[in-house]
Amino acid sequence: MTTRTDCLALDAQDLLAPLRARFDLPQGVIYLDGNSLGARPTTALARAQDVIAREWGQDLIRSWNTAGWFDLPKRLGDRLAPLIGARAGEVVITDSTSLNLFKALAAALNMQAEGPPASAARRTIVTERANFPTDIYMAEGLAAWLARGYSVRLVDRVDALPAAIDADCAVLMLTHVNYRTGYQHDMAQLTALAHAQGALTLWDLAHSAGAVPLDLHAAGADLAVGCTYKYLNGGPGAPAFIWVPKHHQAAFCQPLAGWWGHRAPFAMAPGFAAAEGIGRALCGTQPIVSLALVECGLEVFEETDMEAIRAKSLALTDLFIELVEARCGAHRLDLVTPRAHARRGSQVSFTHPHGYAVIAALIARGVIGDYREPAIMRFGFTPLYTSFADVWDAVEILRAVLDDKAYDVDASRGAVT
Ligand SMILES: *Cc1c(COP(=O)(O)O)cnc(C)c1O
Repeated sequence: MTTRTDCLALDAQDLLAPLRARFDLPQGVIYLDGNSLGARPTTALARAQDVIAREWGQDLIRSWNTAGWFDLPKRLGDRLAPLIGARAGEVVITDSTSLNLFKALAAALNMQAEGPPASAARRTIVTERANFPTDIYMAEGLAAWLARGYSVRLVDRVDALPAAIDADCAVLMLTHVNYRTGYQHDMAQLTALAHAQGALTLWDLAHSAGAVPLDLHAAGADLAVGCTYKYLNGGPGAPAFIWVPKHHQAAFCQPLAGWWGHRAPFAMAPGFAAAEGIGRALCGTQPIVSLALVECGLEVFEETDMEAIRAKSLALTDLFIELVEARCGAHRLDLVTPRAHARRGSQVSFTHPHGYAVIAALIARGVIGDYREPAIMRFGFTPLYTSFADVWDAVEILRAVLDDKAYDVDASRGAVT
């Protein structure tokens, strides 16, 4: 049985432990929600000050050139690329994940429609019913407004996916790590199945980027999008990313054809001509203050690598599962996250009949996790700033809350859970 002393020993040997100092976390808080909103890199405050006071305040409009604002989506995209197995010139940071998904899905349908007749006849977008709702909504919105004649097929079980990827499937659109359960798909295997049927794959990496090692090229993926404000610590509402590999860029046409995606935006021509390369994934002017802060999160990742992060992530999530089952085993908790390492992201979810109330009680005691319908208590583990002692202490507080029934089942809910 692991003890708190064992956890402290693990922390003493942990090569990532010094990186915790790169984040500003409040005293007395154990933050297990970096999968929803990453913590603030210490450098973000000074960076925000510099962007606002100097770049905007002093240099004004000149900063589009002198401070590199105009190139920022591409420059930061290149900096993010190694974390997902992408190459330079294949990623931009822009817009939101919802919007990028819409652009990528529309482009993928168009690639199929422009392809051989067998591709053009394909009319289904295959995804999971358990996908993050915005992904389903955006796909259904696209099918309702722009891609009439297409339909979204919601698959109920992971093991039913192979059969659902049939000759009618135009695009397989999946979230790589499920936001609720932490289930991680086998990207290479599903991509190979999709390609064998003539379908393209679009991956949402919202809960994968910065959380698990990714190699989009090795997996053969076609398109990908994801968040920067979760594991990448880019800040609340920070712009998302979109990946279009070089070999698909010429065929990548998306309907949100704004001037930032134009080949010569300042020619102010009335006709749209898409930029060469990844620039065509852009739409309009970016929120520069927010975008600039994404760099502070990416810088921390350059001090380590995803293999080290993954090793610690699995150690933290294994420990959390072990301790919850050993110390809270008398309570009605059910693990919904896979035990198999290959199938697990960087979070652990348990159901409890009073999950919302228990999470509220934990938050009141400084252990910040979150709640997702139905009945799921979700705990994200971010190896850059979470220690093994944090895991011990969080489980101890959970045990006390459950043993003492110190939760209010009638607690009212905020707008955001
Ligand atoms: C968090 C998340 C999003 C968020 O989309 P926004 O446009 O940033 O609100 C989308 N998809 C998945 C799978 C997510 O986990």
